[in-house]
Amino acid sequence: MGGALGRAAFRILIGDCIDMATTAENPLATDAKVLQSYLGGKWQAGAERGAPLVNPCDGSVLAWASSQGLDLKAALDYSRNVGGTELRKLTYSQRAELLGKIADLLATRRDQWYEIARKNSGNTKADAAIDVDGSIGTLKYFAKIGAKLGDAHMLRDGSAVRLARDQNFQGLHVGVPLDGVAVHINAFNFPAWGLWEKAAVSLLAGVPVLSKPATSTAWLAQEMVHAVIDAGLLPPGALSILCGSPSDLLDHLRLSDAVAFTGSAQTAREIRKGIREDVRVNIEADSLNAALLAPDAKSGSPSFDFFVREVVREMTSKAGQKCTAIRRVLVPSEVADAVTEAIVAALSTVVVGDPANSTVTMGPVVNTAQRKSIEEGIEALMQQAEVSYWPAKSTVVGATAERGAFVPPTLFRSAASSWGDPVHHLEVFGPVATVVPYRDKADAFAVARHGGGSLAASVFSGDTGFLTEAAVALGTTHGRLLLVDPAIGDSHTGHGIVLPSLMHGGPGRAGGGEELGGLHGLWFYHQRVAMQASATTLSALAEQAADPSAE
Ligand code: NAP
Repeated sequence: MGGALGRAAFRILIGDCIDMATTAENPLATDAKVLQSYLGGKWQAGAERGAPLVNPCDGSVLAWASSQGLDLKAALDYSRNVGGTELRKLTYSQRAELLGKIADLLATRRDQWYEIARKNSGNTKADAAIDVDGSIGTLKYFAKIGAKLGDAHMLRDGSAVRLARDQNFQGLHVGVPLDGVAVHINAFNFPAWGLWEKAAVSLLAGVPVLSKPATSTAWLAQEMVHAVIDAGLLPPGALSILCGSPSDLLDHLRLSDAVAFTGSAQTAREIRKGIREDVRVNIEADSLNAALLAPDAKSGSPSFDFFVREVVREMTSKAGQKCTAIRRVLVPSEVADAVTEAIVAALSTVVVGDPANSTVTMGPVVNTAQRKSIEEGIEALMQQAEVSYWPAKSTVVGATAERGAFVPPTLFRSAASSWGDPVHHLEVFGPVATVVPYRDKADAFAVARHGGGSLAASVFSGDTGFLTEAAVALGTTHGRLLLVDPAIGDSHTGHGIVLPSLMHGGPGRAGGGEELGGLHGLWFYHQRVAMQASATTLSALAEQAADPSAE
């Protein structure tokens, strides 16, 4: 386990790999396509070839993307004026029906999406399912619950209340759809789900979408939008996509526009700094999520086994590239050895390589730049933590380790429980986690909170009292808590899986945003207005409005 020898050997290895990655010739496939953007109702290419999208298994170029020279102000105007006007002529249920049609169309071409996800994101089938099937499921879900809003054009929040001695003077909260454009900026790790989980809610609200996928994996998003546009499912201007860098996109936003951003905390800071104050912004940023094993969970108990299985699944699913993945593994100090051994035993069965090979259970990370960032993160963690598991890279199957963006699953063990320790503030966005032993319950809750605000935490215990105590202790610093007693050990949906019916987002470094949450998510795309009027006027308004809480 760990120690100075391991650290030195690791430095030599990653030093070699970084050198090889930077000097390796990047094979330019002659048939690499240039991704066009769909803006202002037409497909348009940037003025240059732009940035490459690669196959992370070998670095070969699959496509190029550039936004150079595209008129983004005109694109936003078109979305607002044409897309917004057309969408808002429809009722919620009509727009919900469109979402259902998009889901059906996407479902017919699943194999194509899986193939792109494998080539451009290095996804195994299971990884691609989270992204692709997750997006189709989310669209279907909003098609279903959106239909219940019926023929309305506005939302209603609660009932009318009397405001004065005169009973006829009343107040009612109403949500009016924004008449701007929704700009959706997405991270590289969910090109399909990121696109549709945002677009489903926005389109249902009646707000046109201009989606900006991360350049490195934009291919899948672009092909999906292409399919939907070609099928003519949406009114003109309702859905646009920008491939390539964001360029001056955000400079042209104004009141009644909205930005939903998903990505790193650093980019989130830049966006917050640069954007006009009258543009509403939702931020989904990074997060050092924890899984907590309760003191009652002895080695060999059901909670112990469910916990270990979940940690391993979260470390290896999508090669650890999930914003919700478990990064910190909090365990009672007396079982720290047993937990570490059990995780290491499971990690040693992981087969890393090209997902085209059916024996592979974990693919590469998205590209060599990301691999380098992870390797630097691993080095930083080594300053303070011991290595518990770190296999040799020669185990890569079906690919050449040096050319691809492969990172083996890596487990650390740290005694750190101070807020400033790297394990609590450094997001290593790959198959990397750290076991952190805790002394007692108070210590466990304090250490979990050292993450500075997280998207999700899970707690494993056979003691309902402990689970409810943890819920309260962790509630203020987390967006979602998965409380696992053995009764749901096999049936829960997973620590890292975001569900459309529940809110996604977290406080503090996680960005402070809220997405999804069923119809609750619609409020981000509506202006909530306190209407004061006579009972007659308010009931006329209320007749045009649907109550989303009645879903
Ligand atoms: P990133 O580098 O922050 O990029 C995210 C998106 O922002 C990309 O589309 C990027 O475009 C765009 N962007 C970059 N600079 C910008 C700017 N100045 N103005 C406007 N847009 C800008 O993040 P990433 O590397 O793609 O994704 C990984 C990160 O996302 C991780 O930290 C992960 O935790 C986080 N994440 C969070 C969630 C969540 O729901 N909270 C979900 C997934 C991922 P280009 O690609 O063209 O540069």
